[in-house]
Amino acid sequence: MKAFVVTAPKVFEIQEVPDPVAGPGEIVAKIERVGVCGTDVEFFNGVMPYLHDGQAKLPMRLGHEWSGTVIEVGEGVDKSLLGKKVTSDVMMGCGNCSRCQDGRQHTCADRFELGIRNGFDGAMAEKLLVPAKFLHMIPEDFDFELAALVEPAANAWRVADAAKPAPGKEILIWGTGTVGLLTAQFCLAMGADVHMVGIDKKTIELALEIGVTSAGSELKNIPGGYHSVIDATFDSTIPAKLVDIVEPGGRIVLIGVDDHAAPIDSRKLVFKDVTVVGILSGSPGFKESIRYIAEGKIDVKKILGGTVGMSAVGEIFLGNRPAGLSVGPKILINPRG
Ligand SMILES: [Zn+2]
Ligand SMILES: [Zn+2]
Repeated sequence: MKAFVVTAPKVFEIQEVPDPVAGPGEIVAKIERVGVCGTDVEFFNGVMPYLHDGQAKLPMRLGHEWSGTVIEVGEGVDKSLLGKKVTSDVMMGCGNCSRCQDGRQHTCADRFELGIRNGFDGAMAEKLLVPAKFLHMIPEDFDFELAALVEPAANAWRVADAAKPAPGKEILIWGTGTVGLLTAQFCLAMGADVHMVGIDKKTIELALEIGVTSAGSELKNIPGGYHSVIDATFDSTIPAKLVDIVEPGGRIVLIGVDDHAAPIDSRKLVFKDVTVVGILSGSPGFKESIRYIAEGKIDVKKILGGTVGMSAVGEIFLGNRPAGLSVGPKILINPRG
């Protein structure tokens, strides 16, 4: 089968690789769509922190936001999974340690991360091998594009949930990329007012189209201030700004990661009585992500730029957006396209 492989920073090949074979407890899925994520771009550029602390190394087969159909089940796996529309968790814990056993498998020290950590091959290929226990069933009325957006939306649901949106709450989201825009949709669905700051004119306009109260390239001061502030950027200067902006007693939610540490003054957190939450993964958010989409409470396709074939992936990583896409920041790949 064909797979997109990053062999060295900014160097890639579409390789012919052996088809995966489902072992005990595993399945093979035919990949229909796989998203290009900011994390993938950081790996491609060789700046992802995991590449520098030994958690990952090139060459890598990237891709962790996927949808597909189960085409093969290994020993001990329920055969009724064959033909089912699925995606999977990205984080795959050992199942035995205390973190795995109390619902924090996404922080397991021995975890694999699909297409990210400890050498587990990702979904930018025609087929994917994953342990069946990490699958999530997708409702049949979701198309494969919608299904591939479930994982990024699961991350966004967790970010929104941590910001405690409610009617009368003012929430600031810094970053108008995929995570920022999806988080905005969840916060709006939960009844809050949302304000966004971004650097890209087109996605700022998209934020306004999604229904946020304000969006622009400059921070807007609002009466009463922001109850919760969210960093969904790759900019290490933003967390310190958010510490200054947030209302006393408020919440700061961090999901953006720069390749440099983001310094903050912890004394300000104390004096302002602020809660800071870090979000690593969407793992505990898949069910809610699927539910919000299924119930029509959010329209995740609004953030979709379009779908391209595997031959376009390298150019996307090099920063050349293919012509003919719409303004949405998320690009999906059809590995057989
Ligand atoms: Zn991602
Ligand atoms: Zn574990």
